[in-house]
Amino acid sequence: SYEEMVSIRKRNLNPTLSTLYRKPLAFYKGSKQWLFDLDGNRYLDMFGGISTISVGHCHPKITKVLTEQSDTLGHVSNVYFHEKIHEYAKRLADTMPGNLKCVYFVNSGSEANDLALLMARAHTGKYDIFSLKNCYHGMTYQVMEMTSLSTYRFSVPGSPGIYKTTVPDVYKGVWGGSKCRDSPVQANRKCSCMGICEAGIKYIEEFKSDLNCMVSKNNLAGFWAETIQGVGGIVQFPKNYIKGVYEVVKQNGGLFVADEVQAGFGRTGDHFWGFEMHGITPDIVTMAKGIGNGFPLAAVVTTPEIAQGLGKATHFNTFGGNPLACAVGIAVLDIIEEEKLQENAKIVGTDLILDLAKLRDKYEIIGDVRGKGLMIGIELVEDKTSKKPLSPERCMDILEKCKELGLVVGKGGSYGNILRLSPPMCITKEDATFTVEVLDKAISEIA
Ligand code: PMP
Repeated sequence: SYEEMVSIRKRNLNPTLSTLYRKPLAFYKGSKQWLFDLDGNRYLDMFGGISTISVGHCHPKITKVLTEQSDTLGHVSNVYFHEKIHEYAKRLADTMPGNLKCVYFVNSGSEANDLALLMARAHTGKYDIFSLKNCYHGMTYQVMEMTSLSTYRFSVPGSPGIYKTTVPDVYKGVWGGSKCRDSPVQANRKCSCMGICEAGIKYIEEFKSDLNCMVSKNNLAGFWAETIQGVGGIVQFPKNYIKGVYEVVKQNGGLFVADEVQAGFGRTGDHFWGFEMHGITPDIVTMAKGIGNGFPLAAVVTTPEIAQGLGKATHFNTFGGNPLACAVGIAVLDIIEEEKLQENAKIVGTDLILDLAKLRDKYEIIGDVRGKGLMIGIELVEDKTSKKPLSPERCMDILEKCKELGLVVGKGGSYGNILRLSPPMCITKEDATFTVEVLDKAISEIA
């Protein structure tokens, strides 16, 4: 029962684990884009287990391959061959451009970024790491230092050699006010910059100057960026920014690492990988969440040359690329293709973003609507002029009201004032309409 779970949680689970609602939701079942709580109430899941349920809850094809694989071979460890890891590595590599053909499997996004950090340092022989403020790259002790969101900062000494520069936030950054983002809302409003966004140029200059001040000369191992920031509140960069900083990173001898844990795997609609929308090919790509649809599966993909860096000692992990995880990974790729989920993310997501933009025009407390495909953010503010974050209490009121009306949404940003939508990519136009209706009702009550 719910009460038993509450008491076990207090005694036997880490008491500091955070939950989303005032009275946390307890689910017992999921199916496609739906979740069911202990009382049998149905919810439209617009958060997808934090951007993770890419093809739908309990997809029958995944259940089938998991059952078949666990009946055949569940685990042998990485010191032996098995077919699935080879088949999946090839399939994943085939989705990548250029020389990004070498796949290392791990079990979570944090682990993927941690391994990428080792690779970047091992390959370049340099030490310093650069990332963006407001980013989230994971919670292992090293990677935590890259994750700069204030909510995730502990007052313990961090790992050395990791520095952060200003996030080029188009909405509320110093050089905000630009309309130059790759989002349907922007396409509708017509940015006049023709891709040479002035804000982008200023942020690139800031990047250069921070790099010069913070990173020791000739010591840049790598720069990390989510191709759209997820946990930080769906922050999109000016169109020319990533390409510009990519060049600066290269000029300084560092590697460019794209964290695709949230924006990858077709979620943004136009492209399979988020970096494609920025017109660059990274040196290292990290991925997790959606690639396993909830099964612990993550990977680092890089070039054979960079991969060589790990040959300087033995690098090993027990579970990475195990037969069960790889069987799921292959099935996820098949389903995205067979059910045309990337196209669906584009079609349903574009209309959803445009409809949400109408709500932005209706309510003073919706400062910004942004995103691409089915990776969407709604920034809640006290008022459109000050852009001051809406209070945590009022944000929570909206989340609670949505819950009452059968809609699960997420939140993000340092102040928790950005609603996040990252549903299973199988949602329909009707689901999108329902989402807008519920948000309209919930926001009208507290606006
Ligand atoms: N990178 C990004 C962009 C993420 O959003 C997350 C998780 N929120 C991670 C890395 C870390 O992934 P995990 O929680 O699987 O360790």
